Amino acid sequence: MATIDPQPGIMDIALYEGGKAKVDGITNVVKLSSNENPFGPSPAVQDAVVRSVHELHRYPSTDHASLRSAIGEVHGVDPERVICGVGSDEIIHFLCQAYAGPGTEVLHTVHGFGMYRISALAAGASPVEVPERDRVTDVDAILDGCSERTRLVFIANPNNPTGTMIGLAEIERLAEGLPDQCLLVLDGAYADYVEGYDGGARLVEQRENVVMTRTFSKLYGLGGMRVGWGYAPKAVIDVLNRVRGPFNLSNTALAAAEAAVRDTTWAEKCRNDNTRLRMILSEALAEHGVPSDTSTANFVLARFADKEEADACDLYLQSQGLIVRKVGGYKLPNCLRITVGDEPSVRRVAFCIGQFKAGAR
Ligand SMILES: *Cc1c(COP(=O)(O)O)cnc(C)c1O
Repeated sequence: MATIDPQPGIMDIALYEGGKAKVDGITNVVKLSSNENPFGPSPAVQDAVVRSVHELHRYPSTDHASLRSAIGEVHGVDPERVICGVGSDEIIHFLCQAYAGPGTEVLHTVHGFGMYRISALAAGASPVEVPERDRVTDVDAILDGCSERTRLVFIANPNNPTGTMIGLAEIERLAEGLPDQCLLVLDGAYADYVEGYDGGARLVEQRENVVMTRTFSKLYGLGGMRVGWGYAPKAVIDVLNRVRGPFNLSNTALAAAEAAVRDTTWAEKCRNDNTRLRMILSEALAEHGVPSDTSTANFVLARFADKEEADACDLYLQSQGLIVRKVGGYKLPNCLRITVGDEPSVRRVAFCIGQFKAGAR
């Protein structure tokens, strides 16, 4: 009998593992494993969500005009070149579906975000992994890794899970050096945390081969609502809109995201709190003999002597009700990624790591 098989590549996809949210036998855990905003979304979002229930019998907008224009106003971008998706994950997916496929390559860095590989395989393309330099994106390694088959290059800037970023001059050098048939995707999931950084928006406007993705899941505290957006040359937006489902975002999601982006006071408060608390966390870790790279995001990548020590520390933190993220799947088995929580959580996780380094198990 013939077997019913999926398309090539699909069975090579390892299911995405989200950050743990529970520890058996412990209530009141502090979840520092998914880079969520500990303060949640702006209070204005709650009102917008409640108001949206009166419209639930209506199909949502197909062109997201109202949200795109709010994004345009607040981020200083052209709404005509914005596309909104079910998280920025969906924008990544559209890009792979539209530009990659069997016989093509999708390039990402060794510690790059896991969705690039998943979406490339889902599209039937071959993911290609290139090295980083001491956990920092290496432009020369990316250029060396490109071939005539490369269609997409994904870099997150700042990157997850390393927290490091490269400057705009380096990004421009990368965009300039790519093969003609290749798009550079700048994943700006954490760009909102970097004061004065536009995520690459100006570069998108100046070039034909650069796309930026952004999300409401991190700084805006809306991971549960699933809204992200992309900024791209008009020709790319026209392509992506052809693969986008017309009703991909619900009325509630659209209303929540618009209220979130318009509350710039809340966003700024969260950005400033994150910067201050991230400093407290990284300095406390350093005092306890746990180094980390300079992070520009809402998490810190703590480095331990080896995998054994990182695993033991993870278990100790769990026993204390603290959940952080193991990153062995990102080829960083000796590291733990710790989200910057609220001040009590930051102080508690730093204290417990100090206890662990002093011999507590
Ligand atoms: C969290 C994250 C995203 C955002 O995903 P959403 O689908 O928007 O929730 C994208 N890229 C990176 C690198 C991330 O860490």
